[in-house]
Amino acid sequence: MKAPAFSYTRPAQLAEVFSLLAQHGDEARLLAGGQTLMATLNMRLSEPALLIDLQSLSELKGISVNGNTLRIGAMVTHSEIEASALVAQHAPLLTQAVPHIAHRAIRNLGTLGGSIAYGDPAAEWPACLLALDGMVLARSQSGERRIAAQDFFTGLYGTALEAGEIITACEFPLAAPTQRFAFDELARRHGDYAVVGLAASAHLRNGAFDQVRLAWLGVGHMPLRTPATEQILQGQTLSDAVLAQAQAALRDELEPDADLTHSSATKHHLAGVMLKRCLHALVAKKDPQ
Ligand SMILES: Cc1cc2nc3c(=O)[nH]c(=O)nc-3n(C[C@H](O)[C@H](O)[C@H](O)COP(=O)(O)OP(=O)(O)OC[C@H]3O[C@@H](n4cnc5c(N)ncnc54)[C@H](O)[C@@H]3O)c2cc1C
Repeated sequence: MKAPAFSYTRPAQLAEVFSLLAQHGDEARLLAGGQTLMATLNMRLSEPALLIDLQSLSELKGISVNGNTLRIGAMVTHSEIEASALVAQHAPLLTQAVPHIAHRAIRNLGTLGGSIAYGDPAAEWPACLLALDGMVLARSQSGERRIAAQDFFTGLYGTALEAGEIITACEFPLAAPTQRFAFDELARRHGDYAVVGLAASAHLRNGAFDQVRLAWLGVGHMPLRTPATEQILQGQTLSDAVLAQAQAALRDELEPDADLTHSSATKHHLAGVMLKRCLHALVAKKDPQ
């Protein structure tokens, strides 16, 4: 199918975007990489009158370190993140996760901001944002808001973004020397959305876990953390007994939705497998020299 007819504009200034959004309201849609939006238009799931292309907005581009945070502009593509030495150094979880996102052609166009705004519960970036205690920077005519990852995702494809707001960037705290990261997922074929995935982060202090973050994709109606399971791991070194306790806590805490191909029980089992793999990966990671 082809998309219904729409008007198209490519503003060079953010102020112009805000005034177009104010003028057209629900009839306008922001266009980033188009890797989700164009498919929904072609399937006629959405029929906006106007597409506002964000490609020419330099404020939404670039990767930089500002003080204690890594800032990644909303229009930075998945491939740019994959290739970035700054990301590999300061937010290595993103570097680990990015090869799981779709395929090269899609990664060359799809953007961080588009993925975060869309809030797919099976997507990689939303879970990584949660695992890293990231921030979403949203701007509108009335100024900038900084929204913590924990408060950003509100339900199935639901976010805290308000009408007239656009994501300009995400910020991630710089990785600390004691911090370890692991990402893993199971998908039917490489590049498919995850059946179950886990983005994990923890500090290791004398071999014991501290400040564990377990952020899941594909198991609920939105990306989510499992704080009770994180708490079981706090202060513990990894052993078979600790792993069994954490897996039991996870079984109580997760309520995975079935999808077209996997039952809730299968997803429960796979989540336990992901937990085991990621915890072992966290403790196996070497200290930086
Ligand atoms: C075959 C295929 C496989 C895929 N597999 C995966 C996968 O495994 N994992 C994964 O995570 N993704 C996957 N994707 C999606 C891909 O990662 C998209 O790039 C991403 O979801 C959306 O980014 P985009 O830049 O293309 O956004 P667009 O499609 O342009 O926009 C998506 C939505 O976000 C809004 N939006 C965009 N930018 C902003 C902004 N700055 N502020 C506010 N709202 C904004 C748009 O209005 C739209 O509603 C796949 C896509 C395809 C086509």
